[in-house]
Amino acid sequence: MKQVCIDLHSHSGYAGGVGDIRLADIVNTMSYKGIDVFGTGDCLYPTRTKELREELKYEENQLFSLNKGDRQRFLLQTEVIFTVQLEGYKQRIVAHHIIFFPSFETIEKMDKLMNSWKQKNTIGRPFIVCNSSKMLIERLFAIQAIDSMVEIIPAHIMTPDGLMGSKNMLSSMKEFYGDFLPHIHALETGLSADPAMLSQLEEVNTLAMLSFSDCHSAALNRIGREFTVLDCDDISYNSIINSIRQKRINYTVEFNPAEGRYFLTGHRAGKNGHQEDLYFLEEAPTDMICPVCKKKLMTGVRDRCKMLKQSGSPAQHFFHFIPLIDVLAHAKGVKSITSNKVQKLYKDIINKLGTETVIQIESDEYIYNKLRDICTLEEIKTILAVKNQHFTYNPPGFDGVYGKLEINKNSNIKEPDYAN
Ligand SMILES: [Zn+2]
Ligand SMILES: [Zn+2]
Repeated sequence: MKQVCIDLHSHSGYAGGVGDIRLADIVNTMSYKGIDVFGTGDCLYPTRTKELREELKYEENQLFSLNKGDRQRFLLQTEVIFTVQLEGYKQRIVAHHIIFFPSFETIEKMDKLMNSWKQKNTIGRPFIVCNSSKMLIERLFAIQAIDSMVEIIPAHIMTPDGLMGSKNMLSSMKEFYGDFLPHIHALETGLSADPAMLSQLEEVNTLAMLSFSDCHSAALNRIGREFTVLDCDDISYNSIINSIRQKRINYTVEFNPAEGRYFLTGHRAGKNGHQEDLYFLEEAPTDMICPVCKKKLMTGVRDRCKMLKQSGSPAQHFFHFIPLIDVLAHAKGVKSITSNKVQKLYKDIINKLGTETVIQIESDEYIYNKLRDICTLEEIKTILAVKNQHFTYNPPGFDGVYGKLEINKNSNIKEPDYAN
């Protein structure tokens, strides 16, 4: 048995949005963060496939490394967007998914399938457009038939582009997957939801909940900004997939959903002539019509969860988290994580601790004793406050506006007088 830290959803420059990301930078950041296995991103895009084939070395057990023998491993991964016209829905359902592949041979087979369906592979995150539920389900089965260890997972399930999000307004996963549903073993929580919120949903709570960064950059506050710790037999592709299928999730490390831009229902200032921000901390109007401008409100994820069938089962274990580099920028009162003093302190801390994940694993006393020579007391208190979940977003995010961070350095934290 092994604890394995995985971050299996990322994008390359080909997904749009940013320049290219060097694999060497990814490996570097993984080593600071303590991420063991990273999803390559965009592995179906031909130029990217070629790059990965050339640059990555086959290690063993269907995982890859940049330099033979590196501790940091890569797993072949892409995101695809399924769209389908379902009966009874005016708009097409749009649902982002991540797919894991055990080998380059299976990627070639996927490429052939996409060609046979006349689906273009010219962007990092390709579309698979289906005219009917029947076509969608046939295609899902065809992808699974490539290899029994291919894994298909609904991505950031509650965001507007996620399967159960407010754009789609599906009432159940079964409506989308039909007979394929038993092949769905897991979901990605995404930045906008955590296991506590998702455990309220009856159908969703039967699945393993995974959390990944969905990053488009190798920066210290992007890779591993969310990740999952699996209970695995060893570090291999099959063990990772089997742990996911058997729900052997030790815990996930999550953004606090209240930070997300669509947590609460509301309208931001400036929208439809709103003079000031409007958001509903308690109950949103049941008809979701704005009492001020009379237009449809932007439904927040919290309220979207309340609309779905409720379960009441306990949540999978998780922590809320802020990347250490962001915590240090906050502690030093600077906006940019590229600030020299923030970068230097980060590197000093990693020199002492080994990796960032050690903060989550070890005791407050251990962290204090390791850092007392290189950090101020205020800085240590800030790090421990985040570790112990003493932070909130006030107000929370809504209608495209991020939540505003407050770290409560003095709440419930023992004064670190445990120095000896
Ligand atoms: Zn996506
Ligand atoms: Zn309004």
